[in-house]
Amino acid sequence: MHKVEIKKVDGRPDIIDVSDFDNLTNKRKPYFYSASQRYALCPTCGSIVNIVGGKGSSLQSTRNKNAYASHLGSIPPIVNVQGLAFNSNYTSCPAYQGNNNNWQGLYKNNRTQTINQKLQSYINNHSQEIAKEMSELTGVIFYNRTSTNRLYSDVLDSFINNKGLYTNSFYPDFVSRQILEVASPVDFWGYIITNATALSTVTKSVIGKDLVDSQLKSSNVQFVVDIDNINSPKNLLVKLLYPNGELVISKATANPL
Ligand SMILES: [Zn+2]
Repeated sequence: MHKVEIKKVDGRPDIIDVSDFDNLTNKRKPYFYSASQRYALCPTCGSIVNIVGGKGSSLQSTRNKNAYASHLGSIPPIVNVQGLAFNSNYTSCPAYQGNNNNWQGLYKNNRTQTINQKLQSYINNHSQEIAKEMSELTGVIFYNRTSTNRLYSDVLDSFINNKGLYTNSFYPDFVSRQILEVASPVDFWGYIITNATALSTVTKSVIGKDLVDSQLKSSNVQFVVDIDNINSPKNLLVKLLYPNGELVISKATANPL
């Protein structure tokens, strides 16, 4: 996982990207003991994780070149437990890397009777970050110079209308995919496509004539993201729908790990 939980200086919990770890913890205990001993909590199951990789760390990842967080089987003796915790159930956490394909369960969208407050406040407090992630996943722009754009609001409103907040799933690395996947088709007039393959796909299609630079100005075109297989998703399919047809403009891995 790339998002971890720490407490801010004022004691309130916050979910941060591991790339901001030293900056946002100010290398305070119990989060930082040395560059190879960085600790935080898993935002999903609440158990202790350590940061693998990153500047100055001797813990190197074999899978990823960027730093990431991984569950620990116990609290290391050096760690002052205050502020951190161990959950012996951590092996059933969807973010636990030992779970083969366990992340696919996130797409089951386990319905609940009440809104998931953690998910709601994460979305409210991280909109700019989520919009950037959605742009990277789809090749379509979800933000403008100062804020998120109307495409973002439309997709988010649709996610909320479709009861996307009524779910057990709270796994911050998954949230941008979750919003995209739950939302229904939304209007796509005037939005910008940045992904080169997506642009070339649109250019060659019947709606290509409505492309002005990288902005699509076709009326009656809608944007939607579907998973390729509802039993064992592998990819998110980013589509544009138009009267009498549809285009898959890009694909992103469904795996948030
Ligand atoms: Zn966990």
